[in-house]
Amino acid sequence: LVKPAGRVLASFAAFSQRALSTLVLAEHKDGALLPNTLHTLTAAKQLGGPVTVLVAGGVGSTTAVAAAASKADGVTAVLTAEHSCLAHSLAEPAAGLLGAVQRSRKYTHVLAPSSTLGRNVLPRAAALLDVQAVADVVEVRDERTFVRPIYAGNALATVQAVGEGVRMLTVRPTAFAPSATGGGSASVEPVSPEEMQAARDAAGASQWVGEEVCKSDRPELGQARVVVSGGRALKSAENFSALLDPIADKLGAAVGASRAAVDAGYAPNDLQASVGQTGKVVAPDLYIAIGISGAIQHVAGMSSSKVIVAINSDADAPIFQIADYGLVGDLFKVLPQLAAELSPN
Ligand code: FAD
Repeated sequence: LVKPAGRVLASFAAFSQRALSTLVLAEHKDGALLPNTLHTLTAAKQLGGPVTVLVAGGVGSTTAVAAAASKADGVTAVLTAEHSCLAHSLAEPAAGLLGAVQRSRKYTHVLAPSSTLGRNVLPRAAALLDVQAVADVVEVRDERTFVRPIYAGNALATVQAVGEGVRMLTVRPTAFAPSATGGGSASVEPVSPEEMQAARDAAGASQWVGEEVCKSDRPELGQARVVVSGGRALKSAENFSALLDPIADKLGAAVGASRAAVDAGYAPNDLQASVGQTGKVVAPDLYIAIGISGAIQHVAGMSSSKVIVAINSDADAPIFQIADYGLVGDLFKVLPQLAAELSPN
């Protein structure tokens, strides 16, 4: 988009004169506010100005979520939208609602977690509002300047929004600490009938068919404090489970995998276990990479982990360049010893 310099400067001035206010699209499941919303709230607070949370869902699904959101630190208001068309976070009605709420209430910023929901809904709402969304924000420099990873996380781009339109951002939850909960007392009110109508009008383009969710006693990969991840070197699904499960069980860890291990069928794809550019982005306290070479596409999904441990038979494997602790050795010998040494969780 090319604009004469004078007009861009005028746009900046017009935007900076507007009082800042931010809308955060909440993500929730089974009546609970998901942690990635609390991480997104921290980014919202860094922008300055009041923060409103929009809780959209099926009939009867938003009450407990809205109550939790109203108690989150820094939240000034909570909007609820309940309708059967919003029950399964289908992108079209959710984006229609988000666009209508923005059109009527004119926030300066609209944020969503960089999750399946946020990535699905926020760019559609941005298109409806005729603005460009900024994806995967990892740092807020000021109200129009944001940092986001590019080239699979190998470089960080500082981008600046121009024009007077609303700033629409998806936020990487792992880059922001969670906002505290329990102390706030924000107001809770439903969206207007006109805003609700926009969701209904947008419904019907897609239809909810069903979902098959794998049950696991292990923590969810994206939320786990410890992740034990296996690579192609495990050589089979039997080895993958026989060698990694005892360690994950003893550490109370989630099990992750490289894309190569998933593609080879060693790690079940139905567990959504792949970590990296095309998988999940994780930032646990401890990430143990076992028989994983450290390809850039894998590192893009785990390099923000607080402590990285790598076990690899090749001392020159790239994973050792980012590991805090490295063990050069054959995983088939090392893992049984490690499992035996670890005390039960
Ligand atoms: P390899 O690269 O084969 O590494 C195996 C490692 O195991 C080697 O370092 C080897 O030294 C070590 N090893 C072998 N035997 C033993 C042993 N007995 N004991 C200990 N160590 C041993 N990959 C992802 O992971 N996530 C992604 O999201 C992703 N997205 C991609 C997107 C694109 C567009 C492309 C092109 C690729 C993507 N990849 C992704 C694939 C990525 O490039 C690598 O191919 C993949 O990460 C390699 O997986 P790996 O480390 O398990 O296997």
